[in-house]
Amino acid sequence: MTTPSGRIERAITGFHCDEDGEWVAELSCGHGQHVRHNPPFQLREWVMDEQGRNEKLGAQLTCPLCDRAELPNGLTLVRSSPEWNEHTIPAGLLRDHRIAAGTWGQITVHHGQLRFTLRTTPELDVIVGPDSTQAIPPEIEHVVHPLGAVRFSIHFLSIPRQNPGVELPPHVSDE
Ligand SMILES: [Zn+2]
Repeated sequence: MTTPSGRIERAITGFHCDEDGEWVAELSCGHGQHVRHNPPFQLREWVMDEQGRNEKLGAQLTCPLCDRAELPNGLTLVRSSPEWNEHTIPAGLLRDHRIAAGTWGQITVHHGQLRFTLRTTPELDVIVGPDSTQAIPPEIEHVVHPLGAVRFSIHFLSIPRQNPGVELPPHVSDE
């Protein structure tokens, strides 16, 4: 899930061509990443043919957008938590925990402040203030701490599979 240096890695779940004809790898986190064959700078001849791309399904790429906890486009809201405060916050949120594969979280603070820490290297450590949001990437350990009186809720958003017909290697989760 993370490289030895603490960067987030995601499995390739599919490919598509963008409007400029460049190949984009679709990652299990919902982000896309250009995979260019641009000799002599980037040699990825495999991306030019379908068999080469199919062989890369399930391979891991580091995802800088996940390192920055940027919410991907095109997610679907599946459920929302109740509104919690510093007394009703579930104990599990105060310990390191992670969201299942295929689902992003989005913390919305309605009042007060909380601290959000994502266990990457270096850690992403953010104070989330009133009327602002913080995205939580799937499968990455994180922890939440109220900073005094706070009211907040969490939306859970699922990642659409762009190629539901693609068979992934068994280590790729598809919850
Ligand atoms: Zn990502």
